[in-house]
Amino acid sequence: MMPYEEALSIVLSHCPTLPTEKVYLLDALGRVLAEDVISEEDRPSFDNSAMDGYAVHWEDIKDAPVELSVVGEIPAGAEETFELPRGCAVKIFTGAPIPKGATAVVPVEYTETKNGKVLIKETFKKGANIRRKGEELKAGEIVLQKGTILRHYEIGLLASLNKVQVEVSRRPRVAVLSTGDEIKDLGEPITKPSQIRTSNGYTLMAGISLAGGEPHYLGIVPDEPDKLKKALSQLEDYDVFITTGGVSAGDRDYIKTLVEEVGVKVHFHKVRIKPAKPILFGTYKEGKGLFFGIPGNPVSCAVAFDLIVKPALLKMQSAKDYMPRTLWAKLKRDFFRRDPERREFVRAFLSLEGQDLVCDYSPKLQSHMLTSYVGANCYMVVREGVKELKGGELIEVVLF
Ligand code: AMP
Ligand code: MG
Repeated sequence: MMPYEEALSIVLSHCPTLPTEKVYLLDALGRVLAEDVISEEDRPSFDNSAMDGYAVHWEDIKDAPVELSVVGEIPAGAEETFELPRGCAVKIFTGAPIPKGATAVVPVEYTETKNGKVLIKETFKKGANIRRKGEELKAGEIVLQKGTILRHYEIGLLASLNKVQVEVSRRPRVAVLSTGDEIKDLGEPITKPSQIRTSNGYTLMAGISLAGGEPHYLGIVPDEPDKLKKALSQLEDYDVFITTGGVSAGDRDYIKTLVEEVGVKVHFHKVRIKPAKPILFGTYKEGKGLFFGIPGNPVSCAVAFDLIVKPALLKMQSAKDYMPRTLWAKLKRDFFRRDPERREFVRAFLSLEGQDLVCDYSPKLQSHMLTSYVGANCYMVVREGVKELKGGELIEVVLF
């Protein structure tokens, strides 16, 4: 069976590069920047005060305490033409331009005012509490690089650069098709105890949106070859096509045969991971479309998405950071498993205990238990061949 790294690298090597488009700033959230964004000016664009207080000549306060005459005030947004005479202070507010000659700002907490004078109670270093022109950014500097995934921080930063529109990669159009005779959609009546309310389609659609994709829900199809084939024949309309269920070795698992019939070239079926072992990957549209057949267990579905599909969606959008992020943490308690054949991804909780990053795992280990994700923030990785992990040992963790 194929190891995880090999499966992921096959998928990544088949990711097409999507074209780019211009969108309004807020529509760029969660998407991948397709241009280097350059600052047109220095930032700050003028020297300004970092505090509410008094702007002074540093030489006048270096031997504080000292009393200075107050010669007015400079609010944020004021003109920059003011010149501060020696022996004087001017009241100044956060963000207001520093008057000519001033070389420090004394925060208001270190002052006292009485009849037109201010008592500076403590000395400060030369340049204290002054934000210098260009200290954050120089004109012409690259602020955000092509390939950056845009979070709310970057959206704010782009706004501060007056970027009304930004160039981003087009969203991958991703079809989501759930399969299974027993699976019922939201709102559909459950008439037999053996029927199951779907979760997979929704897990995937939500995950796709968060990864910058555009989910298209194709509903639930029963395990009937004709109906499945009809649904699969819509492949061409999408960049990525994902099915859940029906991809294992059961008699009613038709996905593998059917996708080949509709022209998908299968690159692998089954990966040495737990859960999600039966995952199938193929390409269509001369390699421009990616097909993922994901097993139906809800945890398998989420694991397959996080570890294989999501990196592919990000790579198609030319994201720089498309690989799952890993780190090391101290295992909280012993872990044991009978069968060490596959690499296992266990839902787990990372937290800080004293100086240590500690990882504990969910008591719900099985792949039908979606509740194992409640409160979880990572996967604990149990490598192939490993039966036992000891509490206190350093273990590998994949962040969600
Ligand atoms: P399968 O991969 O089709 O053998 O399904 C494995 C298990 O996952 C079965 O218990 C199914 O009932 C369950 N399952 C399949 N599809 C879904 C779905 N969309 N939502 C929740 N559970 C599902
Ligand atoms: Mg099934």
